[in-house]
Amino acid sequence: MFTRVLVANRGEIAVRVIRALHELGVEAVAVYSTADKDARHVRLADQAVHLGPPPAAESYLRIPSMIAAATTTGCQAVHPGYGFLAENPAFVEACADNDLVFVGPPVDVMAAMGDKISAKRAMRAAEVPTVPGTEGATNVSAARAAAEEIGFPILLKATAGGGGKGMRLVRRPDELEDAFGMAAAEAEAAFGNATMYVEKALVPARHVEIQVLCDHHGNVLTLGERECSIQRRHQKLIEESPSAALSPEAREAMEAAAERACRAVGYRNAGTFEFLLGADGSFYFIELNARLQVEHPVTELCTGVDLVREQLLVAAGEELTVTGRAPRRGHAIEIRLNAEDPEHDFRPSPGRIGHFEPPLGPGVRVDTFVESGSIISPFYDSMVAKVIVWDSDRAAAITRAERALRETVVEGVPTTRELALEVLGSEPFRSGEYSTSTLEAMRAVVA
Ligand code: ADP
Repeated sequence: MFTRVLVANRGEIAVRVIRALHELGVEAVAVYSTADKDARHVRLADQAVHLGPPPAAESYLRIPSMIAAATTTGCQAVHPGYGFLAENPAFVEACADNDLVFVGPPVDVMAAMGDKISAKRAMRAAEVPTVPGTEGATNVSAARAAAEEIGFPILLKATAGGGGKGMRLVRRPDELEDAFGMAAAEAEAAFGNATMYVEKALVPARHVEIQVLCDHHGNVLTLGERECSIQRRHQKLIEESPSAALSPEAREAMEAAAERACRAVGYRNAGTFEFLLGADGSFYFIELNARLQVEHPVTELCTGVDLVREQLLVAAGEELTVTGRAPRRGHAIEIRLNAEDPEHDFRPSPGRIGHFEPPLGPGVRVDTFVESGSIISPFYDSMVAKVIVWDSDRAAAITRAERALRETVVEGVPTTRELALEVLGSEPFRSGEYSTSTLEAMRAVVA
């Protein structure tokens, strides 16, 4: 095992990774921008290195500063968390050039999976079903031809996409040209790459994803699914496991597909296969997230596997002790508490948290960097905390999630707490019969 590791991130995920390192007896080196100089991850770490001013482009995204932070402190490895440099092949290469172990997949696999067109191609080769659509980059007229062939509605997607950016639903032929222009411009601004492709829009559909762990000895462990269909603007708000939509046979088919794909592409470390599940039970690959995900605690609570610890062990060359399908039990639900304003279409509303009281008690886990007096900075994402609960079955887990949210106090910024309570109490959520369209449909009724 390593003796010292750089945590190349901030916020709750930096705190999460530092905890895993300390439990393994490994020293953690934090990095921070000026905005984060008093942040919890800085205080929890054994050492901390200042990267630069608050804008991410001048701090958490600056590869030379990150590498210097690792090498000058004598780190042997780098854990990227999620976001920032976590899926940046140039960063993975820079780590290798400086003899730093990158806690994640090899650079070629990351690059292939980061481009959604090449990822889909690799999946088809591994006999994993993909959403029908264009097989390569597309211009407006090719998109139109493809749309006529597969039928509306279609989704225009950016090959470099992420976080729902560069994506447009097109319902009718006359909407296509404008939507293409807007999506391509958004993709250019967000990723410096305006390449687009077309997919059939599966509506209604559910977003169900499979967590995997792969070591360097050819072993693969799949850890079941997370149901992430409660979304706003393609952003997840509530995740749960198991999914009410999967029969044991359907679950096994998805896990087997993920395992097959891992072997086919030579995947290593933790990853997530995202699938869309159609109303008829058919499922289609949409993307592979080559990193730890925000919602990973849901899987940790159901399987008892500490995914961050396993990531570090695998990166250090250890062999997985359990392979195949991870045993699991009970039901877990995660609620993302974001600093967002319900009065203004849930736009991010950063600010100072005057008072913060996380929920406590049986079956409750809170992943956060926030404490009373913390600042939710306009420079970074608006997440305040993740409240994750576990109980023996789904009904009990929902009750526990409601209890935990009612105990939670966040003063100073508006949050998604009330919205989450509304969803947890709603008929579609309680029945388990919901899709990626449900939350927006609910809001339309309320508004
Ligand atoms: P990003 O990488 O930007 O997050 P994804 O490809 O993961 O984009 O898709 C995000 C969300 O968009 C999915 O969870 C789903 O709700 C919706 N989505 C993506 N592809 C489709 C599709 N072909 N049909 C319907 N909805 C889709």
